[in-house]
Amino acid sequence: MNKNEIIKNNEFLKSVVNLNETLWLNTKLKTYNEASKNVNIDIAAIDDAELRLKKFASLIEILFPETKPSHGIIESPLKEIEKMKNKLQNSYNIQISGKLLLKMDSHLAIAGSVKARGGIYEVLKYAESLVIKNNMLTEDDDYSILAEQKYRDFFNQYTIQVGSTGNLGLSIGITSAALGFKVIVHMSSDAKQWKKSLLRSKGATVVEYDSDFSKAVEEGRKLSDMDEMSYFVDDENSRNLFLGYSVAARRLKKQLIDLNVTVDKEHPLIVYLPCGVGGAPGGITYGLKSVYKDNIHCFFVEPTHAPSMLIGMATGLHNEISVQDLGIDGKTHADGLAVGRPSKLVGKIMDYILSGIFTIDDNKLYNNMRLLHETEGIDIEPSSCAAFAGPILLESSKEGIQYIKENNLEDKMTNATHIAWATGGLLVPEEINNQFLSTYL
Ligand SMILES: *Cc1c(COP(=O)(O)O)cnc(C)c1O
Repeated sequence: MNKNEIIKNNEFLKSVVNLNETLWLNTKLKTYNEASKNVNIDIAAIDDAELRLKKFASLIEILFPETKPSHGIIESPLKEIEKMKNKLQNSYNIQISGKLLLKMDSHLAIAGSVKARGGIYEVLKYAESLVIKNNMLTEDDDYSILAEQKYRDFFNQYTIQVGSTGNLGLSIGITSAALGFKVIVHMSSDAKQWKKSLLRSKGATVVEYDSDFSKAVEEGRKLSDMDEMSYFVDDENSRNLFLGYSVAARRLKKQLIDLNVTVDKEHPLIVYLPCGVGGAPGGITYGLKSVYKDNIHCFFVEPTHAPSMLIGMATGLHNEISVQDLGIDGKTHADGLAVGRPSKLVGKIMDYILSGIFTIDDNKLYNNMRLLHETEGIDIEPSSCAAFAGPILLESSKEGIQYIKENNLEDKMTNATHIAWATGGLLVPEEINNQFLSTYL
């Protein structure tokens, strides 16, 4: 990959390489009708994932008693954060029209991050396929029987492996161990110590790498492939992970109705999702577009030091380019987003439905974290705080204003609802959280 060739006549990419905060607008974005001729949004597959999670609810309630109040359905609150909105406007001297909501996947049960959606779904689906294949369960059974010792012993013959910067490892590790599987998590150098310790305390084997996420995935995949009793959860390519994430949309729809938030042609919904390899924000976007079509605008946010999905989509090279190919170091305090090469699966699906990608400086992650803590008393991890780049930059950047104009949103912004998607935080130990709150870069 020749860096100079790629950025030669591209002022925009030069600016990305120079680590400037930016908003990349996706010029391939199409109307939903047009897009669905190119990407097959498989509604039946989302239905199937939703149904499967319902079938597993009785088991989840037994394995994870913290899900009792929601009867084994793992879902997070959606909350209006008006004080945060006012604070952001004052601190950054910007305008945020309409309402600002926080989707608190940071507080999802079991894994404390958005990975509770895709990761848990994938492990459950794999477990189901094993017991059905071995005639130990039929689809009509009550899945809570899978908590019995006989099944635990059965699952214990198998190993589940995954490569992770931290949160996916937690989600897969905790769920796999709870079902009885052996589990090995391959952790990149970005992974925080407390995440590794927590996983080990749940019985997972943690293998540490000196290198980045892509390498941890590669090694994990290789080791898993050598063992026929081992299953690899492939964050770069997994359709099951993606579908697990996509279910979020149906549930969000109910929550918006409960909050009396209208979404239609005159009332746009604008969503900002922190992005690493792309699976979580991609799956959620896929689901959301199927529900709200042209009335929703989905943006990803990446750190200026790891804009992997941005360079993949902007060059059209997707997983064939890494940030390192462009001389960007991939080093960021946003450990959940520290990914140098985007997913193979996701970028192409996003080509026609994603509105754009913001980038954000690491120092703002901590600033935004403090603002949310002070105004709303809510703590989320630094990676999650990337989401606020959206409301900060949409109406104050040249590109954002262009987007609003081109999409005829100018007179609709006062009716808009912005959702910052908080992707992690619940499991962060208090002492580490306090360190984050007092970090100034
Ligand atoms: C994993 C993660 C993301 C992004 O998900 P990807 O599937 O890697 O794009 C965002 N925020 C947090 C906190 C995460 O752990």
